Amino acid sequence: MTDHDSLDPQDWEAFRRAAHDLLDACVDQLADARARPWHPVPERLEAAYALDTPPLADEAALGAALAADVLSHGTGNTHPTFFGWVHGTGLASGLMSEMVAATVNANLGGRDHAAMRMERAVIDWTRRVMGFPEGASGVLVAGTSQATVIALAAARVRALGDVRAAGQGDRCLRVYAGRAAHNALRKAVELLGIGHDNLVLFDDGPRGPDPDTIRAAIAADRAAGRVPLAVVATAGSVDLGRFDDLPALADLALYEGLWFHVDGAFGAWIRLADAPWRDLGRGIERADSLACDFHKWMYVPYDCGLVLIRDEAAHRAAFAARPSYLAGQARGLAGGEPWFCDYGIDLSRGNRALKVWSAIRLYGPERFGAAITENCRLAARMGARVTATPHMALAAPVVSNLCVFTADDRLPPDAQSALNTRIAADLQLSGQGVFSTTQVGGVTCLRAAITNHRTRPEDVDAVTSAVAGARDAEGASV
Ligand SMILES: *Cc1c(COP(=O)(O)O)cnc(C)c1O
Repeated sequence: MTDHDSLDPQDWEAFRRAAHDLLDACVDQLADARARPWHPVPERLEAAYALDTPPLADEAALGAALAADVLSHGTGNTHPTFFGWVHGTGLASGLMSEMVAATVNANLGGRDHAAMRMERAVIDWTRRVMGFPEGASGVLVAGTSQATVIALAAARVRALGDVRAAGQGDRCLRVYAGRAAHNALRKAVELLGIGHDNLVLFDDGPRGPDPDTIRAAIAADRAAGRVPLAVVATAGSVDLGRFDDLPALADLALYEGLWFHVDGAFGAWIRLADAPWRDLGRGIERADSLACDFHKWMYVPYDCGLVLIRDEAAHRAAFAARPSYLAGQARGLAGGEPWFCDYGIDLSRGNRALKVWSAIRLYGPERFGAAITENCRLAARMGARVTATPHMALAAPVVSNLCVFTADDRLPPDAQSALNTRIAADLQLSGQGVFSTTQVGGVTCLRAAITNHRTRPEDVDAVTSAVAGARDAEGASV
């Protein structure tokens, strides 16, 4: 192969200029985020994205295409009035760390190199925030969905022993949670072969499911020869931002000898917030396992979640496997135990650690705590404005960073649902703001999940007024 055939740039100086130009465009995109809301993908880009065309001339052409055709056509979650689903905003630190991560191109499955140490530092920092004991293990993953699979796999190994060899057989494992549990839990029990018929869901009160009701179900399951496996608590429900009574569910799991898993996808980070919000996260420190995301309420660029597991031995027992081609060595690059491939599903792993490490290093827990606290304040502010606007009504009290409401409580449920759905789409399309929707009590409501460090009080006021305006404009035209 000649130099000409290498996949490296033919002219590094030309590449440098092209990369600098692109970096400038990226910085503009972030600095100018307020002027760049989500918009539908322009028709012309369908052709620009097709890959049945000849390769580009050089890196400068690629840079120009990325700047023109990609940079400003994202999900819009970089914008200050983006409140849909639970989307983190991203951080400027991520632009720097992702650039370096792509350059280093480390594989964090294992071996002895800097990124492995940084992932351990990230896990250890989080372990302390969450109140887990020293010796607990963890691994960075794509998100809470994967973290949940890993946590329950460890739980099952602890409960059944050698399930990796023999499989689950005809044993009927049971998992208990409140109805507010995220669909990720259902997927996890399906993937593990437990089956979602064995995910037993209980009606939620304001603090989640009632422990006594779960206790009775556990007793009935045992009497019927089933095998209770885990109690799963939700710390920050995706619909309403509610927190289960974590200490009560921890007591229940302890008493029954079951694994206690907490889904804290976004909500776990409320432990960094000021009172009173931070108290909602009390009890996470008692979990056997915790799933949480850096890409939601830690604002770190996608994707990055974490599973923390109290019992390192159970975690290892569920995943460790080192065929000869992966044998660790005392000296050289094949050192650096423990390896992350022994704690999860993936062997080859990207460098998720660096963007998290960079964010923690730059902003520190206080600034994250302040941003999380502010998001809770803003949700409360939105709630107050909804309540103060005639005929707008909250679907549920605001307890953390979620505000769910209907634009017009005078209408019958079907008409409210249709109105709220229309308003969500209209505001998205006009660039005024992004709400998603969810059903509460048979009504499709507007739902704001504020995991956005760019949102200001004025943004909340403007977008709430925009909802009222859209409703009144419809009323006027009927
Ligand atoms: C988002 C979310 C999940 C799923 O997490 P991913 O990171 O999207 O895989 C699970 N539980 C809750 C409460 C969530 O908000």
